[in-house]
Parts: sequence; structure tokens; C-alpha cells
Amino acid sequence: MPALFDLPQLPSLPVTGMPDTYPVGRVFCVGRNYAAHAAEMGNEVDREAPFYFTKSVFSVALSGQTLPYPPGTSDYHHEMELVMAIGAPAFRVSYDAAGAAIFGYGCGLDMTRRDLQAMAKEKRRPWDLGKDVEGSAVLGPLTKGFLPTSDVPITLDVNDDTRQDATLGEMIHDCQAIVADLSRFYHLRPGDVIMTGTPAGVGPVQPGDHLIGRIEGLAPVELRIGNPE
Ligand code: MN
Repeated sequence: MPALFDLPQLPSLPVTGMPDTYPVGRVFCVGRNYAAHAAEMGNEVDREAPFYFTKSVFSVALSGQTLPYPPGTSDYHHEMELVMAIGAPAFRVSYDAAGAAIFGYGCGLDMTRRDLQAMAKEKRRPWDLGKDVEGSAVLGPLTKGFLPTSDVPITLDVNDDTRQDATLGEMIHDCQAIVADLSRFYHLRPGDVIMTGTPAGVGPVQPGDHLIGRIEGLAPVELRIGNPE
């Protein structure tokens, strides 16, 4: 039967060195995965287990675009993150088996309406208005064969000023631990991407700002902030 209307086409990420793209189905995000960032937000970290929130796949934007400053906020923040892309089904997998489920990695920005997230925390409400913002999951190209070792630098520059500067070794829960834990709750499958949390140094952006996030060994993620609609 014909559909009443068409939904927007789902995003698909370029893969370095491959002709095919990686279609995105779900976006999971890890909270408080770097101790220094948790501290700057006034939060305790949980070393026992990660926690998660999600973004709609319709919040994904490909790297390299200019996107309008979003509605409903006056404190839109950057969060630079390592992104994992799942390449094989994973359900209740062990730490050691988790690596085989990872297709590749990329750079991503978990853009956040910080004022709305803070209000939600204060009122013990869900984070959706703060986190599931249209255009807020900015994803760079994926790379296969990358190893997220502890010495790999992760940085974010805003207008050539470095705001976030850490290493992947600062992650409290590493990539295999995240996949193993998340697979206790979801049937992970190809198309699932996981944003693994941000290091310290998050802060507000303004219209006209140019953001570029880098992780050594991966293609960078880039975003320009446009005027509000
Ligand atoms: Mn984040």
C-alpha cells in the first residue's frame, strides 16, 4: 500500500577507503565517561557501570555542515566524543567478545542544550530536550582498523582555540566494556552507533563559530554554527 507521506532519508556515514556508506539506525550516548568532565559538571562518576541516553536518528547530521543555532536555548554546548559503530549483532556479549562487534570508529559531536539539561536534572525530568536536539549528533566519517588505545589524543577546537584536550585513556569505561554492558539491555546490531562520552572542557558555542574535533587516526568532525531560525 502507498504510504501517506515519506519520512526523511536515514543518514549514512562515509567510511574511509570504502565505496559503501554505513547507514545509521540508532544513536546511544554514554554519560559521564571522563572523570574530569563529570567533575566540571559537579557530578560523581560511576565506575561500576556506564549510563546511557539516546538521540533519535533524525538528530544525526553529517560532518561539514552549517547548522542553525537551535531553538529553546541560550547555552548550546559542544561535547567532542569518540564514536563506535556496531558491525555485527551483539546481545549479552562478554568483554572479550565485544571487540568483534565493533565495525569502526569516528569522531562525533554530542551537541547539548545545557540550560535545558540542567533544568531537567534539577527537576528530575528526562534529558530529551537537552540532548535529543535536531542536528545535535554530528558524525564524521568512520574508519575501520582503528585501535582506541589509551595514548590517542582527542581534541576540540573552536575557531582555532583548543577547548577540549584529553586522551582516550581517560575514558572510565572503555569501548569493549560499553558494548558488553549495553548488550545486556539491547540487541545491538549493525546501524547502532555509540557516542562514548566527552572529556573536560565543554562550553558554549555562538553563531559563526567553527568547530573541528580530532582524534588521532580518524577523520575529523566539523560543524559551523549558523544563525538561529
Ligand atoms: Mn556527551
